[in-house]
Amino acid sequence: MFKEINMFNNKPKSETMEKEHDNHENNHEELFNQEWQKSQENKIVKALNAGEKIEEKLFELPGFQKAFDHELTCLECSDGRVCSGPKMALAGQGILLGLEDLAILEKAIKEKGLTISGHENCGAAGIAHPGEHSDYHGYEYTKELAHNTGNAYKEVHHDEFKCAVHNERALVMDGTGRFDVANLEGFPPQFISSASDFGLSAEYQKIETRALIGIALGSHSFGERFDKENPFYLIISAKDAEQLEATTKIAEEVAAEFDGRVAVDGFIAPEAN
Ligand SMILES: [Zn+2]
Repeated sequence: MFKEINMFNNKPKSETMEKEHDNHENNHEELFNQEWQKSQENKIVKALNAGEKIEEKLFELPGFQKAFDHELTCLECSDGRVCSGPKMALAGQGILLGLEDLAILEKAIKEKGLTISGHENCGAAGIAHPGEHSDYHGYEYTKELAHNTGNAYKEVHHDEFKCAVHNERALVMDGTGRFDVANLEGFPPQFISSASDFGLSAEYQKIETRALIGIALGSHSFGERFDKENPFYLIISAKDAEQLEATTKIAEEVAAEFDGRVAVDGFIAPEAN
C-alpha cells in the first residue's frame, strides 16, 4: 500500500516539474521576443541595419559626450546583464586570459583601483570551466585576482541583473577606458570589452570576441534572430585613428568567420572635458 501511494504520488510530481520547466522555457522565449522587438526599435540598431555609420547617430544621443566624462570604477564581466556601476569589462573579468596578459591586466587594474565583481551564471566561466561548478570557478578566479591586486571584491547575483535574459545586440570594444556605455541611455544592450585599453594582446582580443559572439549567437541569447539583415555588431570606441585601425582589423578578422551575421563599425571618442 505504501509503495502504491508512493508510485501514485511520484508520477504527478514529475509531470508537474516537467510542466514547470516548459513554462519556464516558454516565459523566457516570450521575454526574448519582447526584448528583441524592443531592441529592433532602438534608433542605433535601426540606423546600423540601414547601413548608416554609428558615429553620426551616437553624437545625436544627448548623453553621448558626457558618457566619456565619468571615471569607471569597477571591472566586471562583459555580460550586458551585469552592471553595478560605471564599468570596465572583460569576459569573466579576464578568466580566459593567458599568463602574460593576466600580468598586464593585474598591473592595469591595480593602478586604476577598480572594484572587481564576480557574477552568477557567467558564460565565460562556463567556457573556462565547463560543467555545473563553473560559477564556483569564476568566483574563485575573481577572488584571486582581487587578492593579487589588493582591489576590492564583490558579487553580482541574478536578482540584480539589468535583464533576466541575454539581450545584447552588440559588443563595444572600448579602447578609451572612459566610455560609460552601460549607463548611456539610448544605446542598445551591449557586451563590453576594455581589452584594448588594458593593453591586452590581439590574440586575446580575438579569443574573447569569438567567445562573446558565441554567447550572443547561441541558444541562451538572441541566437538565430541574428542574420545578415540583423547582424550582431562589434562597435569600436577608439581613442585615436591608430587604435581604431588596429582594433577594426581584429574585429573584422573575427566577424568574417560568422557568415555575415556579425558586422563591424567604430568611431573615435570625443575628447575628455
Ligand atoms: Zn560573465
